[in-house]
Amino acid sequence: MVAMLLTLLWAVCLLPSCLALPLPPEARDTSDLQWAKAQDYLKRFYLLDSERKDANSFKDKLKEMEKFFHLPITGKLNPRITAIMQKPRCGVPDVAEYSLFAEKPKWTSTVVTYRIVSYTPDLPQSRVDEIVAKALSLWSEEIPLSFRRIRFGTADIEIGFARGAHGDFHPFDGPGNVLAHAFPPGPGLGGDAHFDKDELWTDGSRLGINFLYVATHELGHSLGLSHSANPDAVMYPTYGNGDFRSFRLAWDDIEGIQELYGKKSNERKR
Ligand SMILES: [Zn+2]
Ligand SMILES: [Zn+2]
Repeated sequence: MVAMLLTLLWAVCLLPSCLALPLPPEARDTSDLQWAKAQDYLKRFYLLDSERKDANSFKDKLKEMEKFFHLPITGKLNPRITAIMQKPRCGVPDVAEYSLFAEKPKWTSTVVTYRIVSYTPDLPQSRVDEIVAKALSLWSEEIPLSFRRIRFGTADIEIGFARGAHGDFHPFDGPGNVLAHAFPPGPGLGGDAHFDKDELWTDGSRLGINFLYVATHELGHSLGLSHSANPDAVMYPTYGNGDFRSFRLAWDDIEGIQELYGKKSNERKR
């Protein structure tokens, strides 16, 4: 009997810490599942510290998210915030992970190499190559930086499709939700852009996730940009349902990238 109780106690202790947390008052109006989902979202994208056992931390992070998306600040789960939480999006957090570094990371060489290391079965490889080149050109048209594709060896920016766990401690989650993620400029994983192979990728000719749009967004991270709160910007964190056929960088994106690298015309004057 004692052994059974001990086993039971041990099993209870192994439950994920989120289940052991006291529910904040606002959760009384919301289903437990929705609250757990919101907690997971805030952990991933607003760096909610799951070690902190107080409800305030959850509320503060919810307020931080409401502020980012220009919603009225309530600190409570409400239909507007849960609607945003359900949208497909980029896996990079909306708040800076390493605020210790005052200097934003960027490439210091004027020629940055890239390599496409793996593909999606949804598009011909040549189409993926074209779209990646197009996405990079959208950025390089605005700044004194150029990209050179390499087919072997280590590139500054390595681009690939992967499903589930793929070796960087940021596993993908199957179709929907997180579509892709990328790392800021730096050695190793730095600059690399990963796309969830479980999404249905398209070049715009049929239904699916528009690869040019998402690639342009992720390569913005590869160049050192973080998320923009401007819904018109390609660096906005969620994936919209707009018309991507005539998509181009928004003024907000151009200002951001030129703040890091300067304007293209500066190079010509040198
Ligand atoms: Zn992103
Ligand atoms: Zn990854």
